Formats: sequence, structure tokens, C-alpha cells
Amino acid sequence: HAKDMGKNCFHFFDRHMNSNVQEHMQIVSDLRKALKNDEFVLYYQPQIDLTTSTVIGAEALIRWIHPEKGLIPPNLFIPHAESSGLIIDIGRWALDRAVCDCKNWQLQGFDLTVAVNISPKQFRRSDIQSVVQKALEIHGLEANQLELEITESLLVDDTQELNNTLKYLTNMGVKISIDDFGTGYSNLGYLKKLEVGTLKIDQSFIQKIQQDPQDQAIVTAIIQMASSLNLKTIAEGVEHETTKNLLAGLQCDQGQGYLWAKPLPNDEFLTFIRKRAEM
Ligand code: C2E
Ligand code: MG
Ligand code: MG
Ligand code: MG
Repeated sequence: HAKDMGKNCFHFFDRHMNSNVQEHMQIVSDLRKALKNDEFVLYYQPQIDLTTSTVIGAEALIRWIHPEKGLIPPNLFIPHAESSGLIIDIGRWALDRAVCDCKNWQLQGFDLTVAVNISPKQFRRSDIQSVVQKALEIHGLEANQLELEITESLLVDDTQELNNTLKYLTNMGVKISIDDFGTGYSNLGYLKKLEVGTLKIDQSFIQKIQQDPQDQAIVTAIIQMASSLNLKTIAEGVEHETTKNLLAGLQCDQGQGYLWAKPLPNDEFLTFIRKRAEM
């Protein structure tokens, strides 16, 4: 059919591309305003120790409260923030807010860690060490209460700078975890660089683990490998009690998912941990 349409096909394609570019420009301009007008919020999703069933921390997940469009999930705007470079400022904001909120949980009697997603672009910058250090200093949070979630794709570039950054942060006491583990690259050599670390097993392996023997084989292998390398494991996207029990049986350390809670606004997260503390 494309052949039959001849030149019109190009016209259509051109217009389509233009509208995508326009949409991108509009979003980037809105994102810039959003930073200025404080339209971002962090939601927190509890992370649970599978042995003790206690909440040990939370992952900070950004949302954009758009004045007209309402709540916008990160998958719809983070890619635009990354390609435009705005992710640097947004990422700094998120790190600072997460550290501040974690300090407040501590002041209210809850000793938890906070995990912050760091985009590869932000982690590769030479100022990442001082940005992290400053956020901790300003809010008076211990480094070992902060965890940075990075992706496998970042660790593939085996540069001296990256290795230095990882070493510097882990020496400070900051924890590093690999997000969406298993969906990136098959070169696992980089795992040797992670002295203190956690593998976050991607939810695509967890969701159907009951029914799918291959998913179960993959998860079992990841947990065994992590254990021999002295790394911790956390399963993402745990939605059912049976999944949790299976993972606990496989010696997975932690879980995160709708079974316990969806990502919650800070006040609701505090209500959640207060309730669990009473149980
Ligand atoms: P992620 O870091 O892998 O976060 C996990 C995603 O899975 C979150 O989606 C979370 O809401 C969702 N999730 C958690 N438990 C369950 C479950 O039981 N079932 C299902 N179906 N989903 C579950 P969310 O909040 O939409 O975030 C999407 C992605 O956006 C994140 O994936 C992360 O890559 C990115 N992101 C979020 N916040 C930030 C941020 O502050 N900075 C950067 N650079 N990226 C962020
Ligand atoms: Mg994450
Ligand atoms: Mg993930
Ligand atoms: Mg993800």
C-alpha cells in the first residue's frame, strides 16, 4: 500500500515528524516552567525485608502535577527531560527532596533508606559526587541511608571516571543498586565493581514467576549469582502473596510492589509506615 500512496506517504510522514518535534518542544518548555513553579512531587514506594517483613526503605518516584493535565507519570516526561538536558536540574531537585524527606522520616522515629533513580546523563557528570555530598550535608542525612539506582546501560561504559565515581560514592557509604536488572546487557563483568550493591530484579521476570518456569529459572540464577558476589537482591513488581512466598523461599532479600503498597505521596507513606509500626 505504501507504494500506491506514492508521494503522499512522504507528506504524511513529514507532518507526523513535525508534530512529534512540536510536541517535544512544548513538553520541554512546560518542563522548564514546571521546575520554576515547583510542579514536581516525589511519591514513595516501600521496600520490604522478606525475612522480617519490615519496611527498610522506600524508592522515590517522581510525578509531574501539570496545572491543566493533572498527574503525569515519569515515563511520559523523563525521556524528554533526558534528551533536552533538563534531567540534570530535575534530578538534582529529586535527590535533594528525597534526602530531605528521608531525614524527616528519621526525625519522626523511622530509620529508613531512600532510593533515588539517577539518569545515566546525571551520573556521568563530573559533579555528581559533590551534588550527592552536598544534599547529604545540607539535610544532615548519613550516607548509608541513601541508595542510588542506576542502570546496566550506564555500567557498560567502563571508563576510569565512572569507576572513580562508583568508588568514591561507595567509600562515602552511599549504596548503589542496579535497576531493571536482567533487561540490559549480558556482559556481567561490571558486577565486580559493585562492592556494596543491590540488584533490582526487573518486574518482567517477577510478574509471571508462578506460571512461567523460565522466569523462575532466571530469577533463581540471579539470586544465586548475587549471593556469591555478596550483592543483595530486591524483586520489583511483587503483586501477590504467593509471589512473595516463592521469592522468600528462593532467598531473595527484599521486595517492592503493589502487594504492600503503590507509590504514595509523602504524607500517605508516613501513615503507611506508622500503621505497620503498630502491627
Ligand atoms: P523504576 O525505577 O523501575 O520504577 C519502578 C516502576 O514500577 C514504578 O513506575 C512503579 O510505580 C512501578 N511499580 C512498582 N510496583 C509495581 C507493581 O507491583 N506492579 C506494577 N505493574 N508496577 C509497579 P513509575 O513510578 O511510573 O516510574 C517509571 C520509571 O520512571 C521508573 O522505573 C524510573 O526509571 C523512572 N523514574 C521515576 N522517578 C524518577 C526520577 O526521579 N529520576 C529519574 N531519572 N527517573 C525516574
Ligand atoms: Mg527505580
Ligand atoms: Mg525498575
Ligand atoms: Mg523500570
